[in-house]
Amino acid sequence: MHLFFVFARNYPISSALMVLGLIFAALAEGVGIGAMLPLFALVLRQQSGTDAAELGGETDIERRVADLFTSMGIEVTLTNLAIVLLSTLIVKAGLVIAAKRQVGYTVAQSATDLRLRLLEALMSARWRYFVDQRMGIMTNAFSTESERSATAYLYATTVLSLLINSFFYTVIAFLISWEAMVAAFVSSVIGMVLLAPLVRATRKAGNKQTVLMRNLINRLSDTLQALKPVKAMSRENQIVPLLSEDTAKLNRALQRKVLATEALAAVQEPIIATCLVFVFGFCMVYLALPPSRLLVLGFVFVRLLTQLARAQRQYQNLTTQESAYWAIEKTIAQTLVEREVDTGEQAPVLEQQISLDAISLQYGDHVVFDEASLEIPAGEITALVGPSGSGKTTLSDLVIGLVEADSGTVAIDGVPLDQVSKRAWRERIGYVPQEMFLINDTIRVNVTLGEDGLGDAEVEAALRAAGAWEFILKLPDGVDTRVGERGAMISGGQRQRIAIARALVHKPALLILDEATTSLDPETEASLWKTMLELRGTVTILAVSHQTQLANIADRIYRVENGKALPAAV
Ligand code: ADP
Repeated sequence: MHLFFVFARNYPISSALMVLGLIFAALAEGVGIGAMLPLFALVLRQQSGTDAAELGGETDIERRVADLFTSMGIEVTLTNLAIVLLSTLIVKAGLVIAAKRQVGYTVAQSATDLRLRLLEALMSARWRYFVDQRMGIMTNAFSTESERSATAYLYATTVLSLLINSFFYTVIAFLISWEAMVAAFVSSVIGMVLLAPLVRATRKAGNKQTVLMRNLINRLSDTLQALKPVKAMSRENQIVPLLSEDTAKLNRALQRKVLATEALAAVQEPIIATCLVFVFGFCMVYLALPPSRLLVLGFVFVRLLTQLARAQRQYQNLTTQESAYWAIEKTIAQTLVEREVDTGEQAPVLEQQISLDAISLQYGDHVVFDEASLEIPAGEITALVGPSGSGKTTLSDLVIGLVEADSGTVAIDGVPLDQVSKRAWRERIGYVPQEMFLINDTIRVNVTLGEDGLGDAEVEAALRAAGAWEFILKLPDGVDTRVGERGAMISGGQRQRIAIARALVHKPALLILDEATTSLDPETEASLWKTMLELRGTVTILAVSHQTQLANIADRIYRVENGKALPAAV
């Protein structure tokens, strides 16, 4: 139930309204049950034709309740009491609906808020955090865990509402006969304690489910991304066992959960019956309660014990889902630790050069740069060449500020990058990565990434500059043609050109092309480099490529190797 207090803190108003609604609903029901006491006494009196007092039907509590109704101006007749009973039930229903409306609001809102918080934490995290991240975990947190957390809250509120109701039944039963109430309390506590192991079993299964789902979705998303080579080489049989171990474990956890849930429901029934027999026997034999009280007490006890049993079942459901909430909160907290703080305030211009001075960087024991220095002059084309794994991408990441060096400085026009607003700096960068991605939307959205300010003219100019316009004109819907999942409907070269247009559309001050022309045919590549030549002077271009065409147009070439970036012959 800790979860309920967490949610109550996050959504204080709707939680308070819900609790108030539930309390008043239970109060209304209490009044209705109060009306039953004189009602039963009257019925008994009318049936027997004798004085109820002789039957032991009208005693202290009935008379007091009857007096209360009289003082409120309600005459104690069968019809009036029946009307009071019915009205309280209707009022109760209205209040419960109002309270549950608040629950509905909070349940939906909590799932949305968890998703947004996770997304926000992810978007503000440092790049290096993503490199080590298992993305399936994020997908799972975003979809399954946030949904399960919201459901857990729903169960928590149901438990609460049942407990509030039970509390009022307890008070009523206590007023009618405190001895009977103590007997009922003791027997129901014993019943609950006997059933507690089943609740523990579900909690354990729920925790297991959370961990297993994370692993499974993570593995699945990794596998699906690498599916083409797997299928092409007919390695499906190796993939299935990778997933089947976790699915088998998940299967067992689910089995245990269902068994424990069903067992609790099944075993509760005889336990409640035993409690009722015990309490009634006690009321009749030891307490010798009058019939009208026995009737109302019977009603109250049956309700109380069934409500408590339901509360335990709902609590059991809560325990299966609760772990998802703590898991997602943990993920958010871990992601927030990795928040990227924009330390600098200066707005970058890039009129002179980007300089990297004595940069050293290593990953674990692996030295990528050892006091490497180089200069990227503004308005020129600088090429990076070198063997694969020598650090070319890392070097462009250093320039963008996605990766920080262990020592040395990266400066823009002489201003160290940590004094420059990273956000403002990156807004001035057009970046085409080695592994570009397209989203399953239209070409237009892939170029603008949904930014409203970019009109037809800008999109066309960028696509033309990227050498994409000609093939787009031949497509049925032009720029509004959809590219399919990860751009599967168009060729690798076409995807690359759209990715280049995306980098150009913002008219960047620095354009970084990381092996961005590998999928282009020589003609398209030549036309792209021609565009780059036209941009020279207004745009600074940093390109990683082994292709000779780049070497022919570059103003400077650096060879990245053995931890250094040394000038190579142009
Ligand atoms: P290139 O672009 O020249 O092929 P990279 O810059 O991608 O090379 O990588 C340089 C070296 O740094 C490689 O050996 C790579 O394995 C290593 N590396 C890059 N990123 C990470 C990382 N996040 N964690 C550990 N090693 C990394």
